[in-house]
Amino acid sequence: MEPPDERRRIPRTDVVLADARVARAGDRLGAVVVKSAVTAAQARARAGEITPDDVVAEVLDSLPTRTTSLRPVLNATGVVLHTNLGRAPLSTAAMEAISVAAAYVDVEFDVGTGQRARRGRATLAALSDAVPAAEATLVVNNGAAALLLATTALAAGRDVIVSRGEMVEIGDGFRLPDLIRSAGARLHEVGTTNRTVLRDYADAVSPETGCILKVHPSNFRVEGFTSAVAVGELSRLGVPLVVDIGSGLLRPDPLLSDEPDVTTTLLAGADLVTCSGDKLLGGPQAGLVLGRADLVDVLRQHPMARALRVDKLTLAALEATLRGPRPPIERYLHAHAAELRRRVERLAAVVDAPVVPSAGVVGGGGAPGVELPGWAVAVPESWSALLRQGEPCVVARVERGRCLVDLRCVPPEMDDDVLAVLLAVRAGRPVGSSTEAP
Ligand SMILES: *Cc1c(COP(=O)(O)O)cnc(C)c1O
Repeated sequence: MEPPDERRRIPRTDVVLADARVARAGDRLGAVVVKSAVTAAQARARAGEITPDDVVAEVLDSLPTRTTSLRPVLNATGVVLHTNLGRAPLSTAAMEAISVAAAYVDVEFDVGTGQRARRGRATLAALSDAVPAAEATLVVNNGAAALLLATTALAAGRDVIVSRGEMVEIGDGFRLPDLIRSAGARLHEVGTTNRTVLRDYADAVSPETGCILKVHPSNFRVEGFTSAVAVGELSRLGVPLVVDIGSGLLRPDPLLSDEPDVTTTLLAGADLVTCSGDKLLGGPQAGLVLGRADLVDVLRQHPMARALRVDKLTLAALEATLRGPRPPIERYLHAHAAELRRRVERLAAVVDAPVVPSAGVVGGGGAPGVELPGWAVAVPESWSALLRQGEPCVVARVERGRCLVDLRCVPPEMDDDVLAVLLAVRAGRPVGSSTEAP
């Protein structure tokens, strides 16, 4: 405890808040955050942990540097679409678009006429240009919302025909049959777990049919005695065919030969295709619906569409993803193993750790079984928790008792930041000291 006269020297709250640097921090972070930092610093001075003269410096030191508690991380897991790390990272063009859209913008306004205009028209045009095979397009909140809207608008109170081989759980307890029931549609299951043939679907079609739904089993594989019915065959049964392809690949990618894409699926005869915006498309969280204009209109005009619509930030980021430079995930997916090895070897040499082969994966419940050849620095398993405490936070992958630092999804210009954190951990320096010179 400080002597009483010292304590009387502790600056009052209004005096601390009047400091120009504290005031500037208040403008950026908000009064509540700054006030609680002042209260905490005064308490430390009262307890004699700091001197009264240090209160302002303590406030400035203890204030958060970011306006969000979301913490940026470097993804050194080798998992390109890491669900826990927010799936697709956006391109800088998309980030820029988000900050423009954050202010007042003409999202639903024609500045020429001064009249209301169609919401998100430029984004829909970008999507149509990217997929000429689609007559019309619609953007909703996410892939699940696209599926919910399609089944509700086309089949509420009627049958949705689905193969038993496609009754999937997407993740986190989210199950397709539950979604269809929640849409008020009747689930008409056909075929078996491993085999469904055209005849199964044909026998199920009746005047009660709202649509046939084909779902890409995106996160597992059934091997052996299997059969599924192609989109082209299903499209000839005379009822609307909705295909949920999951990943949002717009055109075929030779690297992911088993992954369906929007264009091929539409050309094969799907009436509507639904997918996510933040998987292989590399954009913001969104659900895309593409296909027949009359059916897209039915969805657009359904009351539920309003509840599932996207905000202006998403529209802006999606447009920039579609029209702008290739998104980061494309670079990460197609990174050359030799180049990855060169980058990893440079770090490994400095840290004096072995380089080991590391198979990257697509992740996000996509392209199961596809291994992306790459390399990693292998460090002790116990380092993984310490790397996460680094500045920046490095999230690596723990595998068979080792911690693998895989640079596939790390922007090359951040390699030295990963290296600095590795060196800090090896030297046993405290958290965050990685930014200081060794
Ligand atoms: C990921 C996925 C979904 C859900 O999409 P979200 O954008 O996560 O809502 C639906 N269907 C399939 C086949 C998927 O892979």
